[in-house]
Amino acid sequence: MADIHGYVVGVDFSVCYGCEKCVHACPTNVFIMMQDESERLVVDPVREDDCILCLVCEIVCPVEAISIQRAGGSDDTLASLLEGTRG
Ligand code: SF4
Ligand code: SF4
Repeated sequence: MADIHGYVVGVDFSVCYGCEKCVHACPTNVFIMMQDESERLVVDPVREDDCILCLVCEIVCPVEAISIQRAGGSDDTLASLLEGTRG
């Protein structure tokens, strides 16, 4: 059963296994590592107010534990970023 923490940056604690990829990838340092009630390592998006909706964490997460709220038009943000990399 899903166990979502965060509003803009939603992390499903039942899926996250604490690999830290999102922690290192996030440009604005949104995540902290913590232990859930069963002492499993997970990430908590405690600084989600700093999220710039770049979607990098969603992309790097191997198990799709993160879901970013797209209400702010972040798909456009991602598209423009990818556009930039294609030159
Ligand atoms: S979308 Fe970008 S800024 Fe927001 S939490 Fe993920 S990696 Fe960090
Ligand atoms: S990348 Fe995914 S599995 Fe790894 S710590 Fe982040 S949310 Fe958890």
